[in-house]
Amino acid sequence: MGIDAGFDMVPRLSRSAKDQAAWTAFISKVRERYASDPDVEFKENYIVWKKGEHPMLPYAGHKFLRFSAKISGSHHGGIGEDIFTVSGIARSIFGGRRARCWYEGVINNYFYGWAEVLESWDSYDQPDEPEDPPEESKPLFAIQTIPNKGRGLVATADIPIGTRIIAEKPLFTLSGPSVELLEGPISNILKTLPEEKQKEYRSLHNNYKSTQIPPLAGIFKTNALPCGHGSHVGGIYLTICLINHSCLPNTHHSWNDNLSRETIHVTRPIKSGEEITISYTPEGLSKPRQRKLKESFGFDCKCPLCTSPPRKIKFSDRRRTEIEALDASIAGDGTIVSNPLSCLKDCRRLIKLLKEEYGGSALTLEGRAYFDAFQVCIGQGDQARARVMAERGYKLRALCEGEDSEATQEIRELIENPAEHRLFGFSMGWRSEVGDVPVGLEEEAFEKWLWRS
Ligand SMILES: [Zn+2]
Repeated sequence: MGIDAGFDMVPRLSRSAKDQAAWTAFISKVRERYASDPDVEFKENYIVWKKGEHPMLPYAGHKFLRFSAKISGSHHGGIGEDIFTVSGIARSIFGGRRARCWYEGVINNYFYGWAEVLESWDSYDQPDEPEDPPEESKPLFAIQTIPNKGRGLVATADIPIGTRIIAEKPLFTLSGPSVELLEGPISNILKTLPEEKQKEYRSLHNNYKSTQIPPLAGIFKTNALPCGHGSHVGGIYLTICLINHSCLPNTHHSWNDNLSRETIHVTRPIKSGEEITISYTPEGLSKPRQRKLKESFGFDCKCPLCTSPPRKIKFSDRRRTEIEALDASIAGDGTIVSNPLSCLKDCRRLIKLLKEEYGGSALTLEGRAYFDAFQVCIGQGDQARARVMAERGYKLRALCEGEDSEATQEIRELIENPAEHRLFGFSMGWRSEVGDVPVGLEEEAFEKWLWRS
């Protein structure tokens, strides 16, 4: 008997010097407090409490997700007191937002699933593995010639979802009112670069060879990626610009403002030998999509979707039509606040269709739909559901952009304080508190509650 209580570290600690220093400070405070306690043992790689369910703390902070145990009604002297003491030390060092305390069914809810927590506990006993060598010295891909496509990137190992395979600094960035006027500026920039880099730039694909656009500007127009969503500044990357297109890509590219780098994250598991792909165009139906690729990049798309049987393409187009319609309806004027229930239903349907169409790899789009659902709930004062929607949006965003992206960090803030969003209180028709998330429901019943179905 008893109720689970403890704290989760959200997000988990990295190996950065700052996180490691904070964890070391935390561990030494715990040591100080329990140095003479016969029930607490300091092992080679972790600390263990030899009572209750034997909760543990590893010395390697990046392995840590949760400290918890079942506690009984009286907290005095038992494991319950230790859980509260250690949680208090954690809060004093990491703050209550990061060291998130919970008390099952009473305050908050835990953040991580039990399967990943148990896995992290198992790892405490292992010596801390040295940090992976930097990407430069251990790439997960090789640049190869791909039949009919020129050069491309091919995975040299199986790569799990969420892996950041590239974080590349731009060779240079530029913006201008018209691409034709960029020939001079690009030429000047190239003169400042090593000859090898200049050569590499000139070897990038130019889709505008037979047009009025001068060659250096043509290469820029073909290859530049915007530095941030909607940015007018374009960046050139000697590796990322070699990644070929697929209408069902296996990675996502995004600009990371905190790193000043363009990152590539894996959005579905990639097998060794598989080509790494991104999407050059927004989603869309087969015909306009292929036309756009031909016009802007000069190739006929031969991706698995575009070369599938006509019946499959028809199904895909039908799904994409419905996806576009749902997107438009959700984004419609004030729908999120004026028609919340039907908007919530649309978000759920949209997520289902995205999963079907992209086989679970449309992480950004699914994440955006969860964020829409978050806005619906918070607009009605429903903090409990808003919080769950924000958590799901956050997990997806972290997979395709990393914990250190600004967008990921913004959503993370909303998990803890959904009421800080500007839509909070527009109506209080669905009023609930953040702690009102039901516990102990089966998955189906939980989804029913979440989507008000
Ligand atoms: Zn295609």
